[in-house]
Amino acid sequence: MEEYPKNLVEFESWFSTEHACRDYLYTLRWPNGFCCPRCANLKAWPIGAILFECAGCNYQLSVTAGTIFQDSHKPLMVWFRAIWWVTGQKNGASALGLKRMLGFGSYRTAWTWLHKLRRAMVRPGRNKLSGIVEVDETFIGGAKPGKRGRGAAGKALVGIAVEDKGDKGIGRIRLGILKDASGDSLMTFVQNRVVGGSRIRTDEWGGYNRLVSDGYIHVSVKKNELKLAHLVASLLKRWLLGTHQGAVSPEHLAYYLDEYTFRFNRRTSTHRGMLFMRLLENAVQIGPVTHRQMVQHVRGRKPKDHKI
Ligand SMILES: [Zn+2]
Repeated sequence: MEEYPKNLVEFESWFSTEHACRDYLYTLRWPNGFCCPRCANLKAWPIGAILFECAGCNYQLSVTAGTIFQDSHKPLMVWFRAIWWVTGQKNGASALGLKRMLGFGSYRTAWTWLHKLRRAMVRPGRNKLSGIVEVDETFIGGAKPGKRGRGAAGKALVGIAVEDKGDKGIGRIRLGILKDASGDSLMTFVQNRVVGGSRIRTDEWGGYNRLVSDGYIHVSVKKNELKLAHLVASLLKRWLLGTHQGAVSPEHLAYYLDEYTFRFNRRTSTHRGMLFMRLLENAVQIGPVTHRQMVQHVRGRKPKDHKI
């Protein structure tokens, strides 16, 4: 299924009821027809307006069970409007903006929703980069420049991988937080994001020496020749400073990197509706996450858990 609303008027007429939202989620979650998440049986019958019962194991579930919408008490219509708004924010969405748009009383609810949606911005099982790929690292946060090869206080080291499409410019990107700039960290970053056999361009840092023995073609150049990676790094930093006023805690940086990657890789998509559909597609494929899980590794005072 590749159907999505082309504009706000279509969006509003398609998703004017809870039932319509559920139907749309159903086709995104089970594009080839129902498949039981417990026993993989292909038959189910409806029980009331919301639940289905699997014909194989009698498991009763709704289309939102086991998705990021699972424990939400808010209508899907509100979620759909949040996602439509988030995918339309060219420069990224802030929790304050979402709170205002939906008229939420609580900033934390808006914050939690945004973080749930950021988790849905990475497609499960997404493809790796291929072809010619430029790889570099950059420090995010902190005031003082950090020393390469070791951690710098208050900073996060971020790996950047960028497809070089020659005349066509930049292809897709991948970002990831690195523990340090050691060979182990860099090789793990590359292996998880770039197809073996690709041609990888880096600077002359020794951490990249293992690329050839790990099955890549390695081209090393002077640091200032990594123009694509440097461009992505500066755009990323500008985005973090602009949309989020630099107020990104290190604990959540990985999710902001996911959001940036999602937006960057779809920057040429002219259809907002397609981004909306992609985000929903991912949202019904990844599991639920609670506010408690999101904040459990955050330092300092922890907000009390609550249903949203
Ligand atoms: Zn079943």
